[in-house]
Amino acid sequence: MAKQLYIETVGCQMNMLDSELVVASLRKAGYTLVETPAKADTILFNTCSVRQHAEDKIYSALGRLKHAKKHNPNKIIGVLGCMAQKDQRLIFERAPYVDLIVGPGQLHQIPELIEKIGAGAGPQMEVSLDRKAGTRGEIEQSFESYDPLRDPAMRPTPFQAFVRIMIGCDKFCTYCIVPSVRGPEQSRPAAHILAEARQLAEEGCREITLLGQTVDSYRNAADGRTWRLSDLLAALQEIEGLERIKFVTNYPKDMTDDLLSAVHELGKVSPYLHVPAQSGSNRILQRMKRGYTVEDYREMLARIRERVPEAAVTSDFIVGFSGDTEEDFDQTIDLVRESRFKNSFIFKYSERPGTKGASVYPDDVAQDVKKRRNNELLAIQNAISEEDNQPLIGRQVEVLVEGPSKNARRQADGGDVLQLVGRTHCDRIVVFDGNARQIGRLLDVAIYDANSFTLFGSVVTAHVGPEVYRL
Ligand code: SAM
Ligand code: SF4
Repeated sequence: MAKQLYIETVGCQMNMLDSELVVASLRKAGYTLVETPAKADTILFNTCSVRQHAEDKIYSALGRLKHAKKHNPNKIIGVLGCMAQKDQRLIFERAPYVDLIVGPGQLHQIPELIEKIGAGAGPQMEVSLDRKAGTRGEIEQSFESYDPLRDPAMRPTPFQAFVRIMIGCDKFCTYCIVPSVRGPEQSRPAAHILAEARQLAEEGCREITLLGQTVDSYRNAADGRTWRLSDLLAALQEIEGLERIKFVTNYPKDMTDDLLSAVHELGKVSPYLHVPAQSGSNRILQRMKRGYTVEDYREMLARIRERVPEAAVTSDFIVGFSGDTEEDFDQTIDLVRESRFKNSFIFKYSERPGTKGASVYPDDVAQDVKKRRNNELLAIQNAISEEDNQPLIGRQVEVLVEGPSKNARRQADGGDVLQLVGRTHCDRIVVFDGNARQIGRLLDVAIYDANSFTLFGSVVTAHVGPEVYRL
């Protein structure tokens, strides 16, 4: 009998990709996916540790399963990913009915570990070495990259896929848990990435998004040459069937001119750059150990605007980091006002045990102040996004159709008109009426309205005639 798997994923695109790969390996082992924990005999949570809120969500989901486990002791409950690496045995202590704890570097072992549990071996835990628990080589090895099987059914759409090009991070920004839970920075060999992209294209994938914590720091030495991200993009451009190539997340200091030229010159590479600034104050950037000043960031942005004028740039900001005064926050507002990002993700600082931030700098900005600044900065950014979307009204954009929109509706008159959603080359969301056959295609859409987040349009149909026949 097929075994039933339920998996819940929180966090970033890296986690979505990890879940896709875990599901592919478990399908191979005879599992089918189900939509609720109640129907499943194996329940997995792929977790995030970047902010406390993401962890709280998982601990409360685990709490809700306590009775299910009592009722059916054969149910296997597993915690995967960053929280598994960070909390390790603490998870068994807080939720003693958990059977499985697997860090991001051991995901390939899951089918085997589940089998062991099923055979009565008791709870299993596999995690990587702590960042100070060995030589660099030993620690790198304990964080194995995991990129074997793909499972289109687990992707947002079958024609879009994430491809990992780097794992880990060595920047150690003082607020951030990622270097501890994802391990040392390691670039995947270019040949592996190209082979995976070719396979995805052959399976009908039209858009790939390359993933790395600092994707523009990509370096891989092979066959007597060093591959940088710009080299990789040039090689990916040649793959038949691929139409769009995106990459996230960029580190401001590593935004080199060769990369900007590649984005401008290679037609398949999306003119879309996510380059988090985090703060507009030099004092705070230094405390965050970001490795650049606000002047450096401005200079980088000016280079982007000059070399890739068509690019949409997006950013992340943390409000209320330790010591972040109203003056510092005003400088962040200034940076947001002048940079005209397409959009910004704004986060309230969340202290992470195990980071330098937690041990050295007090979490001294009140929660209500963080909340107020978050709302204020978001309102400023949203007004800019709305303003900058207005010039698109009346223009035609090329959209990769992703699927039905959230408010998809079927018209009652027997037609099959469906509200669809897609994205432009520079990652703007477009909503328009179409039909299911258009999903996965590139279409021209004429824009007639826009708000901060969305463009609204109509599909441009090829117009035939009127033709004039000579008699
Ligand atoms: N590697 C990427 C970079 O350097 O921009 C992003 C990694 S992190 C998963 C995504 C975003 O979460 C960061 O850009 C930062 O704004 C935010 N973040 C990270 N740690 C945080 C913390 N302790 N509290 C609040 N936000 C945090
Ligand atoms: Fe975290 Fe900084 Fe690395 Fe990004 S660059 S993952 S924010 S440590």
